[in-house]
Amino acid sequence: MPELPEVEVTRRRIAPHLVGRRLRAVRTTRPSYFFVTPPARLRRALAGRTALGLDRRGKYLVLRLDDGARLVLHLGMTGQLFAAGASSLRLLSATARATLSPERQLAFRPDAHTHLRFVFADEGPEVYLRDTRKFGKVLWLAPGEEHERLTRLGADALDVDGARLFRATRGRRVAIKSLLLDQAVIAGVGNIYADEALFLAGVRPGRSAARVTRRESDAIAQGLRRVLLRSIETGGSSISDYVAPDGRDGEYQSERRVYARRGEPCFTCATPIARVVVGARGTHYCPRCQR
Ligand SMILES: [Zn+2]
Repeated sequence: MPELPEVEVTRRRIAPHLVGRRLRAVRTTRPSYFFVTPPARLRRALAGRTALGLDRRGKYLVLRLDDGARLVLHLGMTGQLFAAGASSLRLLSATARATLSPERQLAFRPDAHTHLRFVFADEGPEVYLRDTRKFGKVLWLAPGEEHERLTRLGADALDVDGARLFRATRGRRVAIKSLLLDQAVIAGVGNIYADEALFLAGVRPGRSAARVTRRESDAIAQGLRRVLLRSIETGGSSISDYVAPDGRDGEYQSERRVYARRGEPCFTCATPIARVVVGARGTHYCPRCQR
């Protein structure tokens, strides 16, 4: 599942292929649950428009258009957003669990899973959104229109600071880890990143959020930024379940300190890493380093 870092990496890589180019047409597959906005309406709304920018909100990509409308994309579990004929393998292996190998993307022809196909007035490379399992979503918002998928999101995980996190924890009896995963509080934190950040902060995942101190809130916010930024730096692969189609990226997962390391020695104190379930999610921590 693409997490915030993979989505951010996709945003940075695909933005130059989308921003500033005028759309001649957008081709879609037939109506399905993939399209929150009916495809016929999408095609009408997007033809002739130019993208002014590509933003990210949590795990959503938001394409800002020159008429004030916005196109919102979610990659789901298997969504891939890529440009035709792009030559860099890393550019092409844009998201986690990619189902199309880089070699096959190079010679890619739009297929039944290519739900969006951006065709540009400059007749340059097309951009595709392909999703074999269709857990992704596409949504068009008229100028000024809002949608709960975006408005319900809390602050972006990369923008969260200790003060904000501390305020959010007051009076909350849920486990601190569950609070970090609540997208209405912080947008974009996935299971692995929550465990890793809590390790860096020395805070046990199961501790009540209300019992986290201001100082610890600073450390957790800092830990989140550190693991997310490091993952973005390495192409979204340092720590997540990301495996490139050619399998080469698995090596980066050695940067994990606790996640999926049950029973292995803590890198700091050699105590075996413990696994518990917090909020129905597998959770890893060091019983000695985290309090
Ligand atoms: Zn330890």
